[in-house]
Amino acid sequence: MKKILVANRGEIALRVMRSAKEMGVKTVAIFSEVDRCAPHVKYADEAVCIGPAPSSESYLLGSKIISIALDLNVDGIHPGYGFLSENPEFAQLVLEAGIEFIGPSPEAIALMGDKLSAKALVKAYDIPMVPGTDEAIQNVPEAKKRAKEIGFPILIKASAGGGGKGMRIVNREDDFEIQMKLAVSEAVSAFGNGAVFIEKYIASPRHIEIQILADKHGNVVHLFERECSIQRRHQKVVEEAPSSVLSEDLRNEMGQCAINVAKSCGYVGAGTVEFLLDEDKKFYFLEMNTRLQVEHPVTEMITGVDLVKQQIRIGRGERLAFSQNDLKISGHAIEVRVYAEDPHHDFMPDVGVLKSYKRPGGIGVRVDDGFEEGMEVPIHYDPMISKLITYGENRKESIDRMRRAISDYQVVGVSTTLPFGAFVMDHPAFVSGDFDTHFLSKYFTGKSIPSASKEEKEVAAWFAAKLINDHSTASMIVNASVESQWRKNRK
Ligand code: ADP
Ligand code: ADP
Ligand code: MG
Repeated sequence: MKKILVANRGEIALRVMRSAKEMGVKTVAIFSEVDRCAPHVKYADEAVCIGPAPSSESYLLGSKIISIALDLNVDGIHPGYGFLSENPEFAQLVLEAGIEFIGPSPEAIALMGDKLSAKALVKAYDIPMVPGTDEAIQNVPEAKKRAKEIGFPILIKASAGGGGKGMRIVNREDDFEIQMKLAVSEAVSAFGNGAVFIEKYIASPRHIEIQILADKHGNVVHLFERECSIQRRHQKVVEEAPSSVLSEDLRNEMGQCAINVAKSCGYVGAGTVEFLLDEDKKFYFLEMNTRLQVEHPVTEMITGVDLVKQQIRIGRGERLAFSQNDLKISGHAIEVRVYAEDPHHDFMPDVGVLKSYKRPGGIGVRVDDGFEEGMEVPIHYDPMISKLITYGENRKESIDRMRRAISDYQVVGVSTTLPFGAFVMDHPAFVSGDFDTHFLSKYFTGKSIPSASKEEKEVAAWFAAKLINDHSTASMIVNASVESQWRKNRK
């Protein structure tokens, strides 16, 4: 593989290209009209504009991307995460074009992309599962009966759901019917697939996931766990590795389970098996994500393994150069996702221009981003600006370093989740390691963090005035439609 096309944008496109460059692999970027000056475009050896801003007219145009790859003699396509990364039809078309898809087979993507088919598949391997229904539920009275047997509260989940969407908690039997109807209609409109099922709602879980790597020769290893319990709207915002609650035995057991899940679908490449861990330290399989994950850097920091390089080597057909026993955890890493969102206002997406943008640096600090000062955070895509990752000898050093890095990080022009990250790093529950997926709802309100400083407000006011003069206020409009627009684009 001498040249790869990265079918993505932002931080992940840049992150993939950096590893490719170290391997002497040439890179091709694709970009939409609003991303013309983005760092991933400048960084690539070649770059091609594929269309207007909406992802349905650009980053989701599978056939167009493949024809660009063919024109430019590309031998591999890396899908990143989001967009086409979990689209089995796209993976199939890439293979049919004689290009390597840097990821698992279309069959594995399809099987694992559907939560019910994934559960059915891994059943044979004795993987612990959240109590619930094995099949899509159709008949409401029958479903209600099953829900009663499982015991409220229960969760109605869309089989095709993802990104924290398509889940409804039902606390009481009386609410079941209405919630079920809503869940089905949401699943149809958001995922084009109305299949829903029931799971017991685990009261106080931690989200623990295992990174795996599998080559084309049947070798599968795990690279330990990531703890991703700090979430908003069922989406991760702070992740760390290792988890402070896994014993060596439990880590091995969950690792082996994850390897079995990967084997169940003949998995190839980098993947993640997600579990919930309850208060009694019992774990349950949630789903498998068949791609590189947003939070993969924390695993890279504690293992020293570059996961993107491994993906490319596996794509080339190479054998894994290490076995399970060669892998060791060293130190501790934390990631804070820096979203252009306002933590004072329920994490509402915020957009605008990065008036001032200064990254933190120094020992143990890694910033994976896709922006430069003066660039606009577009409304069309995921509002993530960067991932701030710190590495330390132990958890305490990693937390102290994250506090320092957050205070050194300067972003003016849009609200970000950095103050929320600082809140987490200071919170006794996080510091002690005693928390679950309800951390945010239990401890955080918009008032938990100071509002913007006087200086920041002044800069924002100055900037707003300048924009009005420039007749381009549209880019500053921050309203509720931003998120719905963004969600729409993901479909
Ligand atoms: P990961 O599974 O890699 O940890 P998430 O669970 O946060 O990442 O997101 C899953 C997918 O949803 C990713 O591919 C990402 O592009 C997309 N995504 C990220 N943020 C959002 C968001 N705010 N709303 C909807 N989808 C999102
Ligand atoms: P997605 O495909 O959207 O990532 P997941 O099944 O991975 O969906 O779940 C995302 C998050 O939702 C979990 O990390 C957890 O916080 C919550 N969740 C999912 N299933 C359950 C459950 N049965 N009980 C309690 N929380 C759950
Ligand atoms: Mg998940």
